Amino acid sequence: MRMIGLTGGIGSGKTTVAKIFATLGIPVFNADDTAKELMQNSPLLKEQLIQQFGAEVYQDGQLNKAYLSNIVFKDPYQLNLLNAIVHPASIQAAWDWAAQQNAPYVIKEAALIFESNAAEGLDQVIGVTAPLSLRIHRVMQRDQCTKADVEMRMRNQVSDSIKMKLCDWVIINNDQELLIPQVLKIHEALIKGL
Ligand code: ATP
Repeated sequence: MRMIGLTGGIGSGKTTVAKIFATLGIPVFNADDTAKELMQNSPLLKEQLIQQFGAEVYQDGQLNKAYLSNIVFKDPYQLNLLNAIVHPASIQAAWDWAAQQNAPYVIKEAALIFESNAAEGLDQVIGVTAPLSLRIHRVMQRDQCTKADVEMRMRNQVSDSIKMKLCDWVIINNDQELLIPQVLKIHEALIKGL
């Protein structure tokens, strides 16, 4: 199955773009949701997370996101450890899912594609970009959080300008360019096998 990556920084509009592809009938895999689901339900991952970060990772059987975020967003080393546990399982889950789809291509939406070696095996990668100030504003509104919270999460991602250079396609989501025509152009090219 031809799998196309969809990436971009926090608040760039990946999920918004993914919804347009889904409307066109293209199956979409959300790597971030899958990672959370695996952390909650995979016995192997649960064991590894407890071993690495302590039993407090789970509270009454539920993933304690606040506890984990507090550890990993302050310390890049701990974040790398978390990613080394979660990413291989999430990458495999994407391929297992893709093998069951019936479509000209499928989309894999992930904030970290280049950072996690998930680009390996992907046919092409689409990047979504938006000005930093707009991204911060959108996430503050969506998540009801502070500017500092958003900036802390952004610190752990490769900068947008580097990321976009690695992409085969770039969608500009800056409140001026229309999204749907940009998605349609890429969809039509992918359908043609380009
Ligand atoms: P994250 O990496 O944090 O999951 P994301 O890249 O998936 O973010 P979205 O959730 O798609 O980004 O967008 C962030 C917020 O901005 C959402 O509330 C979304 O509705 C809004 N948004 C995105 N693009 C647009 C747009 N073109 N016009 C208006 N609102 C938008």
